[in-house]
Parts: sequence; C-alpha cells; structure tokens
Amino acid sequence: MSPPAASTIAANQAKTEQKIRTAFLPNWDQVPLEEMERQANKYPKQVVLEGASHRRWIALTFDDGPSNYTRRLLAILKQQQVPATFYMTAKSMEGREDLVKEVWQAGHELGNHSVNHPHLSELAERYWDEEIGPTQEKFRSIVGFAPNTMRPPYGEITDAQIEDLAKRGIKVVLWSIDTQDWNKNRMLFGAHKIERSIQDAIHEEAIVLMHDAGGRRENTLAAVEQLIPWLKAGGYEFVTVSQMLGLPAQPTPSPLQK
Ligand SMILES: [Zn+2]
Repeated sequence: MSPPAASTIAANQAKTEQKIRTAFLPNWDQVPLEEMERQANKYPKQVVLEGASHRRWIALTFDDGPSNYTRRLLAILKQQQVPATFYMTAKSMEGREDLVKEVWQAGHELGNHSVNHPHLSELAERYWDEEIGPTQEKFRSIVGFAPNTMRPPYGEITDAQIEDLAKRGIKVVLWSIDTQDWNKNRMLFGAHKIERSIQDAIHEEAIVLMHDAGGRRENTLAAVEQLIPWLKAGGYEFVTVSQMLGLPAQPTPSPLQK
C-alpha cells in the first residue's frame, strides 16, 4: 500500500472536534463511540481522543501489560527508534517490576490503566482508592514517579470520575484509532487486519489503541513492525502521549538508573 497521502491542512490548524475514526463493534462490552466523543468534547484537554491540531504525528499506545510479549515489542521499537506509551495495570506490573523499569529506561512513557481492569463506572467514587490511586503508588514504588495520564479500561468512565481526575492533574486518554487487536475473532485474520485498521483510519495526531498483553500478541507485534516504515514513509513522526498533548515530560532515568 502506498504511504499515507500528504495533508492539505496546515499543521498548526486547530481541530474543532475530537472523534474516533474506527467502527464500533457491537456485543463486545464496548462503550458507544458517541459516549466517548461526548466526554472528549465536553471536557476539552481533559478527555482526549487525539491531538488538537494537524501535525503529522502519531502516538502508539499499548495496554494491559507488561507481559511476556513486552520485551519483543521493546526490541521492535528500539530497532525502529520509535517511542510509545504503555498503559499498564498494577496487576500485570506485579512480579514484573524490572520490566516496567526497562520500558521506562528505553524512553517510553508510562500510563495508569487501573489495578484489575474493572468497569470503573461501577465503582463510582471508590474508583480512586481501589484502582487508580494504588496504581499510581505502584508506579512510584518502581520508577519514583506517577504518570500524568490514565486510560480507563473499556474506555468506560463517569463524568464525576473525569472531574475528580482533573482536580488531581491526571488526563484521561482514550483513542482515535482502535486497531481492535483485542478482538478474538479478528485475531484469526492475523496482522493484516490490524494493519488495515490503521491504514484506513490514519490521520494527523492520531492516538492508536493496541495491546501488549491479554492474549496472544504475535499479530500486534507483526503489524507494528510492518507499519512503522509505512508511516515514516508518509512523513509521520512518532511521539508519546505527553508530547502529543503538550504535557510536562515524565522524569527520565538518572545515569545510575540506566
Ligand atoms: Zn485494557
């Protein structure tokens, strides 16, 4: 497939709305796209689906890890010199603390994806004490700081929780392209399906949802490896979520921690 076509829109032109470019899959426990778009447009800069302007930037994000696939993913990203953002659960981090550190030391960004991957809306105000707060603490105990962005499992979060996170200085990061690599039916179609979901929906300042845990991830890894050169050929630059949103960068490892 030829690289993504050049844009006719100026890089600094602001977008007027946030939206998800990939289709909704019914019967998979997903939040309706309109609900995520409603929240992103109700809470600008606090709930994010994509970057706010038209720079030829893309943020790859990987959820649910770390896992036994993460080191292979790190090797691909290192080989291609591309940063990414990892939304980790505290449960996956347990026993893999060294791997969390490796992700950070390799220059990637860390984000909060809860402890147990629940439906946060069912927890109401307990969401912080039971899920998001302990995950911030887990990060602090491993790398010495806590992330400034979180991703709610399933994209499911209440307006009250969003407002509470805003007071705590934590942004809610959803996505504009869902590769649907989590979908068990799609796994049968292999890496090609994942590649096509990005190729068909690619746009400036895209935030791409993928996974490095929660099932077999060979297809995701293969798709990432194939797509990075295609995106680079189209002039896309890879950034972390913080870079995309203009947030303060996360602390970098000191020479002793490297
Ligand atoms: Zn998840």
